[in-house]
Amino acid sequence: MENLLDYTLDEFASWLKENGESAFRSKQVFSWIYKDIWNFEDMKNIPKSLKEKLNENFEILIPEVIECFKSSDDNTRKLLLALNDGNLIECVIMQYKHGNTICISTQVGCRMGCKFCASTIDGRVRNLTSGEILSQIMIAQKVLGERISNIVLMGSGEPLDNYDNVSKFLKEVTSEYGFNIGQRHITLSTCGLVPKIYELADEGMTITLAISLHAFSDEKRRVIMPIANKYSIKEILDACHYYIDKTNRRVTFEYALVKDVNDSKEDAKSLGQLLKGMLCHVNLIPVNEVKENSFKRSSNKAVETFAEILKDRGIEATVRREMGGDINAACGQLRRSYIKSQS
Ligand code: SAH
Repeated sequence: MENLLDYTLDEFASWLKENGESAFRSKQVFSWIYKDIWNFEDMKNIPKSLKEKLNENFEILIPEVIECFKSSDDNTRKLLLALNDGNLIECVIMQYKHGNTICISTQVGCRMGCKFCASTIDGRVRNLTSGEILSQIMIAQKVLGERISNIVLMGSGEPLDNYDNVSKFLKEVTSEYGFNIGQRHITLSTCGLVPKIYELADEGMTITLAISLHAFSDEKRRVIMPIANKYSIKEILDACHYYIDKTNRRVTFEYALVKDVNDSKEDAKSLGQLLKGMLCHVNLIPVNEVKENSFKRSSNKAVETFAEILKDRGIEATVRREMGGDINAACGQLRRSYIKSQS
């Protein structure tokens, strides 16, 4: 049995032809799936003989909602989802005035080892398939009863460490026969796998690239992000320039502010110096405290001062609005606490 969600429209059309069916059925079946019909029996315009073939060969794997937490302001929901092999992942749905954003996972766990992040503590269990990435959006829309308009790949996992499945997902989700989500409404966040940034730039898509920078120098970055031993900030910025040239898109730099680690005025000035003149935007995130490590969030005053220093240097900086702090919405925390409570 294969998960039909792992097939692109064209791949499924080829399968149909090889199996003596008309290729146009591919669009029919997929349009049912996008209308939240997830079993072949209920697909009204599909002949019985084809339904039988589909049932013999395919399943449509939708994760099971284990828990759904709502923040006290009602705007954020965090879903704990079980994949069909029992592995757990998380996604977060945020309702804004301008539409619904989903933050999705790309791997079970993560192997990048960032010191402040809960997703990486037990390493990477496995990659998600493109269908499993897609199915987070499907289940979220069902839970919400509304369509999702924006996607951020900022849940558990390193998207560029699962490049093939993530790029297949991106093509599927932006396809006009699929969810038809605008490329500009998608943000992919990476800790900086340089060769893959070039590969992404060459895909010809105009999604927003976000880089988890978190420090202005390699020396400082190496203390909190092991990936900094492999790629230098200079190599990352060169790749970003290439991305900007290819896509004309502004790059986002994420910077988690950790008390006494990277939040001083000197840090802000040096970061300003580093990014001066670049088509970019800095997203400051007061670090979410995770009980497995001792990193503390910066004071509001330090966050404000940091932002001001960047702005004074002509660099656009915003402080990420905190949503869902009361529901363990930071990466990987919910999955960890659930696994712990079951063991
Ligand atoms: N692996 C990708 C995407 C997942 S994490 C990446 O590294 O970008 C999404 C963002 O949340 C990253 O910027 C990551 O560094 C940040 N993050 C992880 N744990 C955090 C925490 N405890 N507090 C604040 N930001 C965190």
